[in-house]
Amino acid sequence: MEKLTNPTDIARETLKQLAMRRIVPSPDHYESIYHEIAQTSEADRQHPGLKELIAALERATPQSPEAKRQLEQLKRVIKREEWAALYEQLIRCIQSQGTTSELSKSWGEVIRELILQWDLRNPAYPPSRKKEALDRVLANFGNNANELNQKMVGLINSWSETGVENTPVSSLENLSAEAITPSTTSPAGAESINWQDWRDSTVTALELGLAARLLHNPDLQQETLLIAREAKAVGNRAEMEKWLPRLRKFWLKLELQNDQEDRLADGLMKLLRLLTDNMAEIVIDDEWVRGQIAVVQTIMSQPLDMRVLYDAEAGLKEVMFKQSQVKHSLVEAQTALKNMLASFIDRLGLMSQSTDNYHTKITHYASKIEEANDLVSIRHVMEDLMQDTRSMQVDVMRSRDDLLEARKKADQAHSRVLELEKELTALSDKVREDQLTGALNRRGLEDAYQVELARAQRSQVPFAVSLLDIDNFKKLNDSLGHAAGDTALKHLVQVVKDLLRPTDTVARYGGEEFVILMPGTAIEEGLQVMQRVQRELTKRFFMHENEKVLITFSAGLTLAGLDEPRDAVITRADAAMYKAKKSGKNRVETA
Ligand code: GH3
Ligand code: MG
Ligand code: MG
Repeated sequence: MEKLTNPTDIARETLKQLAMRRIVPSPDHYESIYHEIAQTSEADRQHPGLKELIAALERATPQSPEAKRQLEQLKRVIKREEWAALYEQLIRCIQSQGTTSELSKSWGEVIRELILQWDLRNPAYPPSRKKEALDRVLANFGNNANELNQKMVGLINSWSETGVENTPVSSLENLSAEAITPSTTSPAGAESINWQDWRDSTVTALELGLAARLLHNPDLQQETLLIAREAKAVGNRAEMEKWLPRLRKFWLKLELQNDQEDRLADGLMKLLRLLTDNMAEIVIDDEWVRGQIAVVQTIMSQPLDMRVLYDAEAGLKEVMFKQSQVKHSLVEAQTALKNMLASFIDRLGLMSQSTDNYHTKITHYASKIEEANDLVSIRHVMEDLMQDTRSMQVDVMRSRDDLLEARKKADQAHSRVLELEKELTALSDKVREDQLTGALNRRGLEDAYQVELARAQRSQVPFAVSLLDIDNFKKLNDSLGHAAGDTALKHLVQVVKDLLRPTDTVARYGGEEFVILMPGTAIEEGLQVMQRVQRELTKRFFMHENEKVLITFSAGLTLAGLDEPRDAVITRADAAMYKAKKSGKNRVETA
């Protein structure tokens, strides 16, 4: 059809078409057919008012994607002539402009806000999360100043809120809509915070808690770091749920590994125990080594605890240092003694050699005398003989003096060796002593019991054993303090030591329990000894902060059977002690 340009011609043709097509001649239909005939372009067909409106909105709209999106939507509504939707869409358009322009701030403001929010603590946004989100925004929008400005404002706003669900620009954090908006399953939206916290905690636990402890197992350490990386990459709840079975599998693997390591540690301890037990057997005569082993054995008999290990190490180091000094002097003294003996033997050799010489000479003179048949020749022989005898005497005298000197030095060296050996034994004994009270410790008690039992078996004499326990000691500790309790323990041991015979032994059996070994003592005699200690304690107080403190104890006393195991004897004494407690304390019961 030929394009009409004259408006009158177009109007006439329009009316003709309306009639021909039997269309209701409404203004809309007229307009539509008019444009068709005039071949008006799509853009020119728009109502000038609408055109003006869109132009105005385009001018006012900043570069916000949301505002652009809403404007495009408005254009579509107009084009499709969906007038019913126009009002709503227009409002959305205007609102999107409003929000965006509000978000856009000057860079000065943005930076000031950023510093403020960066320093503020917000449990929903730990520093690590803030840093991560900021990195992401800078990486994605760093090249567009306007967009960056808006994203930053959104990000900072989200940090100032307590919950993630309100975050206006949370898409910045690459989170899915499900994670940002309150989900149907979590009414308060609290869960959307939780899974992120859990993810972050898991990453921290894996990286700082676990991987650092797996230095001895590089494969597992690598796997731990890999799992941590995977955890970091989890971006929403759905991803997390997908990833969780992987974590569970890893935990299982770790559990198996732990099991293996526990068994390893157990095995190692067993081996060490076996080794020290056997060493003690082998070097039974070497008090020095036995002392060291006793310490290690004591440590291994208790649950491992860093404090116990530290104390034992410090104690052992000190004893070892002293012992090494003594041992060094001992070696020196022994070397001196050996040298002395060597020169002694040399001298003896020389002496017998010169005696041999004289023997030959005398035989020679004897035959000369036999041969001599005149006085002159006999006189010559005699003179030679006299000469030789004199030099022989000088030789012998000198040798004798040398020998005496050597013997004196050897004696000195020997007594120094004995002295040093005694010192070494005393040092070894130190590790059998209780540090606080100076009584024997359990290890010391074991040894002493063995010795006394053997003695009793040999001499068939009674051997009394008593176990005592301080009365109401807890109360004393509670009212006067632990230090006063310690003083009480030392005081008790001192009193017991003062009243016992030198052959008796006191050992600390537990916290405030002591065992007393009384060899060659019958039950009545033992009872008297223990009661004497009790009487003495009522007379001898100890002072605590200028106050006299009195302590009492209850004790059980029994005779050791000569074929009985030690533990059975102590158990019997303990039962008697318990009886003494039951019947009013501060008394001795026999069993
Ligand atoms: P009972 O008359 O029945 O024996 O009462 P008790 O309070 O003496 O007995 P209990 O066994 O209840 O308390 C013992 C206390 O000894 C508990 C513990 O705190 C204390 N104790 C153990 N070892 C030490 C130590 O080395 N120093 C101090 N100061 N107190 C200790
Ligand atoms: Mg007790
Ligand atoms: Mg007690």
